[in-house]
Amino acid sequence: MNKLYMNGKWIESASGRRFDVLNPASGEVIGQVADGNAKDTQKAIQAAHDACESWAHTLPKDRTQLLSDTARAILVNREHLARVLTQENGKPMHEASSEIAYAADFFTWFSEEAKRVYGRTVPSNVPDRRRMVIKQPVGPVGAITPWNFPLAMIARKVAPALAAGCPVVVKPAEQTPLSAIELFRVFHDSGFPRGTVNLITCSDPVKVGNELLHDERIRKITFTGSAEVGKFIMKECADQLKRVSLELGGNAPVIVFNDANIEKAVQKVVASKFRCAGQTCICPNRIFVQRDIAGTFSETLAQTVKTLRVGDGIKSDTQIGPLIDKQGLEKVKTHVADAVSRGARCLIGGNTPADQALRNGFFFEPTVLVNVTTVMKIFNEETFGPVAPIIAFGTEKEVLEMANSTPYGLSGYVYTNDLGRAFRVSERLECGIVGVNDERPSVPECPFGGLKQSGIGREGGSEGIEEFTETKYISFGID
Ligand code: NAP
Repeated sequence: MNKLYMNGKWIESASGRRFDVLNPASGEVIGQVADGNAKDTQKAIQAAHDACESWAHTLPKDRTQLLSDTARAILVNREHLARVLTQENGKPMHEASSEIAYAADFFTWFSEEAKRVYGRTVPSNVPDRRRMVIKQPVGPVGAITPWNFPLAMIARKVAPALAAGCPVVVKPAEQTPLSAIELFRVFHDSGFPRGTVNLITCSDPVKVGNELLHDERIRKITFTGSAEVGKFIMKECADQLKRVSLELGGNAPVIVFNDANIEKAVQKVVASKFRCAGQTCICPNRIFVQRDIAGTFSETLAQTVKTLRVGDGIKSDTQIGPLIDKQGLEKVKTHVADAVSRGARCLIGGNTPADQALRNGFFFEPTVLVNVTTVMKIFNEETFGPVAPIIAFGTEKEVLEMANSTPYGLSGYVYTNDLGRAFRVSERLECGIVGVNDERPSVPECPFGGLKQSGIGREGGSEGIEEFTETKYISFGID
């Protein structure tokens, strides 16, 4: 059926139109979904608005119960959700399955946080007054999500919003609406009150986006996606001073010092660089290696990358799936061509795979590039593909300057066994998240988000629920 979901019901779009969803591994159409428009969005906003008062006053312990039931239901449906996700996104099944568990963890974490939205009392400066600060839900939320973690990015927004007492209208990415629909089936079965969770799938983000951004009943926009669209959203929200949280792109540096364990560092760089075929916002985009170990590190990395199996994510032995679409593939090709034309050298990969079975999908070979310099596109822009560019460096000072020479600041990674260096470098990296000998720092209980042009606000941690609350100060005269 693949309809829109609002006010507790599945409905067709007002236009009756549908759009195709493709499998990026084969280019085949795997489904059709309702194509929502402005009219549908208005209905969903009204449903969220109507649900707001009563959801805001639901007891925290009841919200806790619903969210933890949802976490369990997501895990019960793990295999099915992973299959749908892999078919529309392309990532290997084992990665999709991890994403489902990660999404469930957000429901568990925020089910617990729902009970901890504390205010405070402030000692009065006069005898006849009492001062109190409370936290209240911000109101109906518009959540706009990307395709690279189609299920987890919804969970990271919806779980804290609901925990704080805010209804949500979700607009998922055009390429991956099926995962969102399956997640909403879980929400429906979990028994969320009508209007608390609403879903608008669409092929034109502008029509739906305009309503969410400009309607005064929507009090907060939470967005994950490109910096370009994030900036647009912030500008559009400025008129109403609508609250925004923006989780945007990155240009993550990895710094491997000569005292690091090279074998371990290679394994960890491979795990983070090639996850989702290099299409994660925190995946390494520039790999800085200290000059005296750069040769050994690059060769070991190339040998490991050579063993990665590229293919349809649905096959159990696949390690690297396709890119999301033709545009994504073209960007990777352009970055590699630009780097090679300016003197970089491919140690492995560098092309689309020769395997005829993959010719209709958007595949690119896992690639290792050496002799990369600061003038190349690959150094300055998020590649979002399975390409590991290596830049040799001399000193700590030099590498910090290069690593920070980007407008982005989402994640950064340091590999070293020198404790002092680990502190010095992680404190000086201009990133919201730093992994020291840790390739996978993202967990629900810690804050996730970027500095500089990588965004505003945090998801996860105790900060995650704060994003959906307003602070109110109440003063009592008691004379
Ligand atoms: P995108 O093009 O910015 O799209 C993200 C979402 O915004 C999609 O749902 C898209 O809809 C929607 N959108 C596009 N134009 C819009 C408009 N005018 N008004 C309202 N909504 C609009 O980004 P993407 O290519 O899907 O995602 C990749 C980017 O996300 C990368 O830069 C990546 O680093 C970033 N990302 C960041 C994080 C993080 O936590 N910081 C996590 C994951 C990804 P359509 O799909 O219909 O175009």
